[in-house]
Amino acid sequence: MRWVQRWERRLRPVDEAAAAAAARRWAALPAVARTPGQLIGRRSTGCEGTHGVFPACDFACKPCYHSRDANKVRVDGPHTVATVDAQMAFLASERGPAAFAQLIGGEVSLLAPADHAAALQAMRAHGRVPMSMTHGDFDEAYLRQVALDAAGRRRFRSLSFAAHIDTTMFGRRGAEKPRSEAALHLHRAAFCAMFDRLRREHGVKAYLAHNMTVTPANLGQVAEVVRRCRRQGWRMFSFQPAAYVGNEQRWTEGFRTISDDDVWAQIEAGVGRSLPYRALQFGDLRCNRTTWGAWVGERYVPLLDEDDPADLAARDALFEALPGNYLSEPSTAVKVLRIARLLVRRPRLVGTAVAFGWRFARRAGGLRAVRHGIAPMTFVMHRFMDAEVVAPAWELLQRGERSDDPELLAAQERLEACVYSMAHPERGELVPACVQHCLLDPAENRALAVALPRSPGRERARV
Ligand code: SF4
Repeated sequence: MRWVQRWERRLRPVDEAAAAAAARRWAALPAVARTPGQLIGRRSTGCEGTHGVFPACDFACKPCYHSRDANKVRVDGPHTVATVDAQMAFLASERGPAAFAQLIGGEVSLLAPADHAAALQAMRAHGRVPMSMTHGDFDEAYLRQVALDAAGRRRFRSLSFAAHIDTTMFGRRGAEKPRSEAALHLHRAAFCAMFDRLRREHGVKAYLAHNMTVTPANLGQVAEVVRRCRRQGWRMFSFQPAAYVGNEQRWTEGFRTISDDDVWAQIEAGVGRSLPYRALQFGDLRCNRTTWGAWVGERYVPLLDEDDPADLAARDALFEALPGNYLSEPSTAVKVLRIARLLVRRPRLVGTAVAFGWRFARRAGGLRAVRHGIAPMTFVMHRFMDAEVVAPAWELLQRGERSDDPELLAAQERLEACVYSMAHPERGELVPACVQHCLLDPAENRALAVALPRSPGRERARV
């Protein structure tokens, strides 16, 4: 009987714990973020990230969001794995059974490969879908030692990496001080090629995201990065307008002269069409713009057309029928059975799905165009806030007060709708990454530098 009950629960279309976690997030969202396209509190509880685990890095980026003391902290495997485990356990208790989570320091490839793998396994054990954040400058041997065990057997069916590659970064082998984004295209391609070989030779799939900080100096090269690199193997292109966060010695002038629209226009120029970002919203639009879609031949086709009422109705039907996410369910077969069970209960959704598929195919150029395959790709822009606004906004939020200064009020709303949370299990608190980097990192890294002092020469250099 218990076996039957367990399977009956597992095959329910809606995961109760995930739906409850989503509902809690919706209830905590500020009114301005409760838009029809809002994913937070409906299909997602947001993304998560680690902190205080391996803050050191061997690059010198301008800007760098880490505090000055980050590089005084030793990269320590046991500390990393234990801290990741505690943070993810707390996130699971607060944010429900599953979420995307970033294994972020510092530079992740400074971890020994076995420690890197152990940290990913700890994240997975708490239902998280981890993504390793890297500058991408590590050797293939390192990747294989993370992906495979000592006997050459794969540790993971799939890996997810976000590689930050742009001209604000200094120290990359073969491009120590790149003069243009074009000088980095081969490095971008080489990074993707390592994962392609890993898939072909060992069956380990990869989801690769390309990150790029945007400053006045490289804004005009964004479109070219998209155009030239979109076929390299990336599934996501994410652009971060530079902000005054972290180490002040790495700041340069002019970051505030670039608007969200400036950056988005460049991405659109690279894609060759407008990118709708209101149909599906992730947190606050002043923090994030996102377009999901796919390349069909040479044409990029957004998943939803924000001007098409039928698309928006299909989105609303999905949100209503399937609250919470499906990430916690590892089996594709079970996911399919859940959907099938849902469709039996609500057969009208079949018509909604078929009509949506037909509209997508029509936008893509017809069934003949789609027949040759589609390549999913997501475009993201994430704008961190400046430290000078985060500090007073967070202080007011902690006191339960609302600012009457429009700039501070906007910052408060963005923090409340934050989609990038970091955990402090020791004091039972989740904080937005902006708060972590602007306010908490300096003291945290000073304490870590005492607990884990760096001993030069004893750490692994890049393999
Ligand atoms: S980390 Fe900051 S910029 Fe990013 S979603 Fe959270 S509040 Fe917004």
